[in-house]
Amino acid sequence: MTSSGRNTFASAALLARARQVTPGGVNSPVRAFNAVGGTPRFITSAEGAWLTDADGHDYVDLICSWGPMLLGHAHPEVEAAVLDAVRRGSSYGAPTVPEVELAEAVVERTSVDAVRFVSSGTEATMSAIRLARGFTGRDVVVKFAGCYHGHVDSLLASAGSGLATFAVPGTPGVPASSTELTLVLPYNDRAAVEAVFAEHGDRIACLVTEAAAGNMGVVPPEPGFNAFLAETCRAHGALFVSDEVMTGFRASRQGYWGLDGAVEGWRPDLTTFGKVMGGGFPAAAFGGRADVMAHLAPEGPVYQAGTLSGNPVATTAGLTTLRLATPDVYDRIGATAEVLKAAASQALTAAGVPHTVQSAGTMFSVFFTEGPVRDFAAASAQDLGAYAAFFHAMLDAGVYLPPSAYEAWFLSDAHDERAVQTVLDALPGAARAAARAADG
Ligand code: PLP
Repeated sequence: MTSSGRNTFASAALLARARQVTPGGVNSPVRAFNAVGGTPRFITSAEGAWLTDADGHDYVDLICSWGPMLLGHAHPEVEAAVLDAVRRGSSYGAPTVPEVELAEAVVERTSVDAVRFVSSGTEATMSAIRLARGFTGRDVVVKFAGCYHGHVDSLLASAGSGLATFAVPGTPGVPASSTELTLVLPYNDRAAVEAVFAEHGDRIACLVTEAAAGNMGVVPPEPGFNAFLAETCRAHGALFVSDEVMTGFRASRQGYWGLDGAVEGWRPDLTTFGKVMGGGFPAAAFGGRADVMAHLAPEGPVYQAGTLSGNPVATTAGLTTLRLATPDVYDRIGATAEVLKAAASQALTAAGVPHTVQSAGTMFSVFFTEGPVRDFAAASAQDLGAYAAFFHAMLDAGVYLPPSAYEAWFLSDAHDERAVQTVLDALPGAARAAARAADG
């Protein structure tokens, strides 16, 4: 048993076994529940909005594989397309039709002229930065604190001692030489951006930002902030790289760009994608302006490659997902998000728990602090103990939230009335548990 009342005998046994052969027993740290305590659930199957764990308990899934499962788990049409692709062989190391069709679908929906497929969001941002450096002939990269772009050495960086000071490694294993060309600024801070461009503008290859931050909880850019970044980059001959790995085909059908650039009439030079565009399989991409993408090998001199890049099974899953992700899917997910946001806020208010709910299109998260939260410093003011208590009470009531207060809550088109009602029923008790933890 754990602090939550559902038994976890099978998950606990699997964790002990996994720990013998895998650090922490997991293949990505957040899955270990370190931030909230308790036993991570080993999932044995999933269907629609529901996960089933090794002990046979069902949970409404509010993680959706950290974003990809826009249509819900085991969607029959995605499943059929994937099975059909697998039957024709799973990888050839040669060009295929689904790659072309998925590239066309990405180009049709977003601002990019061309894309290159890779297998993870990390690879996408890593490659976009290499291309930006190769295109501009410059070295320096600007990023924001609290924005996550995958485990790329140069982006696992913490701010240096002053605003325009180069960054220091954010984890052991990253050499100082990998972050000494990275500048880390507070999110939503125009003055900080102006200051570093004034001092280093002619050395900056690119500025990379999440199109709307989702990795410190959901922190949308302030109105006009992304346009300001794009314009500042342009004025200094740097490229504007918008990371839509999380928001792409999720915040809206056109990603977060559909809610700002497409409306305001500007576009990033490069954009990265992942998650939804792989339909639950390892597929990601970077793309952008035709003249920039033409610098990529084999057309241009900047090297980039991958054994499984554009894999036919993964691209088939992504393509089928995008084809099924019609505007009404986003309308339904957006409407469900509104119901859950209001209910979460109402329950926490009734229990007297300080909180803020923020959104970016159909994405949202609940911060356990008074808002507004506009940067990482504000997000870090959360009551993490209150969140842990809330998380476990929800889990106990059959709702699987992200096991960290710094994450977005993800919905799918499969979150039907029964799934939503399960969440609504769980919220008041979880809010009271959070209040007790906050008092303690
Ligand atoms: N960029 C953003 C905005 C992300 O949210 C993530 C992952 O969460 C990544 C990049 C890295 O993607 P991956 O985990 O597929 O390497």
